[in-house]
Amino acid sequence: MEMYIDPHLHAVSRTTDDYEAMRKAGVVAIIEPAFWLGQPRTEVGSFKDYFSTLVGWERFRAKQFGIMHYCTIGLNSKEANNEALAEEVMELLPLFATKEGVVAIGEIGYDDQTAAEDKYYRLQLELAKEVELPVLIHTPHRDKKKGTTRSMDVSEEHGLAPHMVIVDHNNEETVKEVLDRGYWAAFTIYPHTKMGSDRMVEIVKKYGPERIIVDSAADWGISDPLAVPKTAALMRKHGIPEEHIRLTCYQNALTAYSQSGQMEESDWLNPEPIDQRLKHAGNSVLRGGQTPRVESSSDSVEN
Ligand SMILES: [Zn+2]
Repeated sequence: MEMYIDPHLHAVSRTTDDYEAMRKAGVVAIIEPAFWLGQPRTEVGSFKDYFSTLVGWERFRAKQFGIMHYCTIGLNSKEANNEALAEEVMELLPLFATKEGVVAIGEIGYDDQTAAEDKYYRLQLELAKEVELPVLIHTPHRDKKKGTTRSMDVSEEHGLAPHMVIVDHNNEETVKEVLDRGYWAAFTIYPHTKMGSDRMVEIVKKYGPERIIVDSAADWGISDPLAVPKTAALMRKHGIPEEHIRLTCYQNALTAYSQSGQMEESDWLNPEPIDQRLKHAGNSVLRGGQTPRVESSSDSVEN
């Protein structure tokens, strides 16, 4: 069976049905970037608990469904505009950035491209250098071309090597420059919108598979946690070579984020058996009277 990585998925907003469907479709690993909640946080404690969830409970929960979970830690661009709060969040970041399973600083960058966003983007690029982690850049949805160019310019001003930086939410307008400058170019597949699977197929046909990464960015909005396997299926249907599908829907994400030293293929090729009786800080994924899924150590994840 094919294996896929979804390197951008906000799992805390998704259900156990999603996890089961993803595993069934071949998703073996996901990366959950820290982002905002759909409404602004009002206290630093809210960030602290959220980051703890990303490195703790959610990582545990994913594993109970046979999916390896990694995350990125960062102050998102929208909330960088609350400077008083942003200052407090900056103090938290180094503590979480160095936890197990954290594969990048992100998603950071620009939203409205304000002075405050610029300030905290730069500070977090410095943090990434300090902790030697890759960077995941969120490019703005408005004025995208300019914001994408600026994200890379500023990253270079701070001396980050392009191979350590994943630029996400690309489209036809931005992809060429991002690839030409040596960055990883990630694409978020949004159902019924601008960047759908059909357009992704055309991009891979045109640019080939090198440094291109497909993700779902599935969150609390209308989104599809199966976007990566579905896009792979569409590529297959259009005759895109199997090796190009493997690179764009699996290997490139692994190569980019394994530069963190926190993610390797053996994590899911030789996983611990699923045991839903296990608890994290006293809680399991089970609810009253449910039968836990328990694999013996000889079972493979496919069973
Ligand atoms: Zn996101």
